[in-house]
Amino acid sequence: MQLSYLIAQRSKDPNTQNGACLVDENKIIVGLGYNGFPRGCSDDELPWDREGNFLDKKYAYVVHAEENAVYNANKPTKGCIMYCTMFPCNECVKTIIQNGIKEVVYDRDPYHNQDEWIAARKMLDMAGVKYRQYSPKYKLKLEKVDNKQKTIIGIVGLTGAGKDALADYLKNKGFAYSSLSDSIRGECLSRGLSTERDNLINVANELRQKFGHSELAKRSLKKIKESKSDKFVIVSIRHPEEVEYLKNQGNLKLIAVEAAIELRYQRISQRGRPEDFVSFEKFKEQEERERFGSGEQQQLDKVISMADFKVDNSGSLEDLYQQVDKILEKINEN
Ligand SMILES: [Zn+2]
Repeated sequence: MQLSYLIAQRSKDPNTQNGACLVDENKIIVGLGYNGFPRGCSDDELPWDREGNFLDKKYAYVVHAEENAVYNANKPTKGCIMYCTMFPCNECVKTIIQNGIKEVVYDRDPYHNQDEWIAARKMLDMAGVKYRQYSPKYKLKLEKVDNKQKTIIGIVGLTGAGKDALADYLKNKGFAYSSLSDSIRGECLSRGLSTERDNLINVANELRQKFGHSELAKRSLKKIKESKSDKFVIVSIRHPEEVEYLKNQGNLKLIAVEAAIELRYQRISQRGRPEDFVSFEKFKEQEERERFGSGEQQQLDKVISMADFKVDNSGSLEDLYQQVDKILEKINEN
């Protein structure tokens, strides 16, 4: 797995670096691969973009790490084991099965519930190819992997679900607080704008559009890496590519806090921030905008679907804390 992460660093993809390493039954290396364009196809002439027309996006051209590991193999791959930094997609799984690979060991699984990965597991199961998550026996020494040792707990939830209550609980347990919106607030102030919700949303969208959808996550992770603390809580993740970035480049575990809309409305009406005095209808309307955005906008529903853990916050704070304690135990076990 360390070799997979090492080879992944050769990828020129600005958003995702994946690696794969094939070994035979004696654990001798048979092939290595990372995500990149086909041989002879220049990075200078093909796009790494993820938005736009078919011909302008990377997906038309890129070869995934798992496929490249097979293409680069120096002997037949029948009976080999593949170590991948991420759970392979459905297309790579087809290649894996057809080339007789008998087991897949993956590290991250950020898209577990998306259709491509459901299809991938379905085919692996049918074909009798084993797959398991990597569990390191040895302490990883690569610098990149060292950064992964810092625990980052992300909390996502709709307004009034109880993100702050959960964050406060973690702060009391020694987690340092980090926010993706710090740089947005700074940006608002330098432009003479107030930091009301609409301004924050607009400026965040603008930054994502200008510098890429993971820009806010990038800025925050940089601060986290420089900090002396080794565990962090973040409450302001609102875009799927922020989750992706923090899972790829850091050790993010995402918790979704959930509660019914009537209860959440009741809570925010009681907490009495000026921006919270809105009618139930308006509350619902604002929420739709945050849940189902596209492009650079907030996409809370998609972010929630990427959560590693879910907690139900319709009961007491004690209930909430108990659920969180169980999750922390699981995270520490890994
Ligand atoms: Zn793939």
